[in-house]
Amino acid sequence: MIQVICREETYIYNAYHMTKAFYPSVEVVSQIEEEASNYVTVISNGTVLAAVSIESLSEDVGNCLSREQKHLLDRTLYSQLCAQTGRTLSWGILMGVRPTKLAMKKLCEGVSRAEFVRWFMENYLVSREKSELAWQIAVKEKALLDRLDARDGYSLYVGIPFCPTVCSYCSFSSGELSAWKNRIDDYLDALSKELRYIGQVSKGRRLNTVYIGGGTPTTLGEAQLERLLSCIDTHFSREHLLEYTVEAGRPDSVTREKFAVLKDHGITRISINPQTMQQRTLDAIGRRHTVEEVKEAFALAREMGFDNINMDLIMGLSGETTEDVKDTLRQIEALSPDNLTVHSLAIKRAARMERQDVKDAGDIGAMIEEAAGAAKRMEMSPYYLYRQKNIAGNFENVGYAKVDKAGIYNILIMEEKQTIVACGAGSVSKRVYPDGRIERSENVKDVAQYIERIGEMIERKKHLLSDC
Ligand code: SF4
Repeated sequence: MIQVICREETYIYNAYHMTKAFYPSVEVVSQIEEEASNYVTVISNGTVLAAVSIESLSEDVGNCLSREQKHLLDRTLYSQLCAQTGRTLSWGILMGVRPTKLAMKKLCEGVSRAEFVRWFMENYLVSREKSELAWQIAVKEKALLDRLDARDGYSLYVGIPFCPTVCSYCSFSSGELSAWKNRIDDYLDALSKELRYIGQVSKGRRLNTVYIGGGTPTTLGEAQLERLLSCIDTHFSREHLLEYTVEAGRPDSVTREKFAVLKDHGITRISINPQTMQQRTLDAIGRRHTVEEVKEAFALAREMGFDNINMDLIMGLSGETTEDVKDTLRQIEALSPDNLTVHSLAIKRAARMERQDVKDAGDIGAMIEEAAGAAKRMEMSPYYLYRQKNIAGNFENVGYAKVDKAGIYNILIMEEKQTIVACGAGSVSKRVYPDGRIERSENVKDVAQYIERIGEMIERKKHLLSDC
């Protein structure tokens, strides 16, 4: 176990996450000790791995760190942990900051690629490769966002929080379908009320993207899917719609009939997410579907005319080697999806995984490189990137897409340039004001509570969307 001791709460987040990034498979605990002699100390079994003294912060720390002091602390702690472990982090000292947001800001300021890369490497100690990646993605994102109406445009998210089974790494508030099957119609009743309200107050604004996610929306029966999509058709105009996505994530949830319903309602983009093409891993993580089912669902979707299919993969799943990942990628390349989203496994509190299952950061780095190579061979380029807390080795999630197949909604959710109105249990709406200010409104996570308190959820939206 590693202990991170910090004099103030302000720095605990960075100190903890940086330590965790260097030691992904070790339990890290943090504590505040106001009287500690150092500002931050990292200890393992009595051995000091890193320590930054108060004196080294040059000026008086006072009640809170200045931005410069925080930066200095980050760099000092980072270099000590590098020396201790003999390795660097590809995203350097960037903790909890979206790299593409920084790149986008520089891009909008007219900074050149070379200047940005130099600044990113020197200032945040990010590797050249990741600095180039952040820039490349910011350029792509900007080109896509420039097509959207930031003032009058908005996007709609609809959450269906049910899955055939719950995967062991899942950190969403998704429930097993069997536990809710008698309440799904009640859930759709509540959702319809929320959709109707949003449709009414959003008249006059331009709906640019719709994303139905979850959970697994295709766990709904054919008639239920029909009902949901018809409700959206009734209350929203498609005049300015650029993209309509439905996650069909679990191959064991799709049928020809359900795909036909999606086609009838003009869905332009779907996701079929294997996460891995190794049967042993699928069994171990509780997916309860086969590799063959992934291939069949994909072939069926193609046969039915879906020409924008995303596939999600996770790097770092329990028991997988780089060879397994290479084999998975070979199988994915044979299918040739239009988008590939590569996640690095994030261990969140809600997930039912054992700590010893967390991979070594070096292995995940190699897997990510393999995935980037496969995406390139499929003529895809990276178009969005985000990082989560607790990703082993402090890596990233990257979305790759073939020409003109990028998921616009994915960029919007990351870059927060447009209002996203979200409905369903556990969804979070974000209103983006012209001055860049963001206001949020959350729905309750619990499905039964959502159904019971739908009036209150709508009231919350009234506040958020008033004078919209
Ligand atoms: S399919 Fe996705 S949302 Fe559903 S349980 Fe698995 S990880 Fe969670």
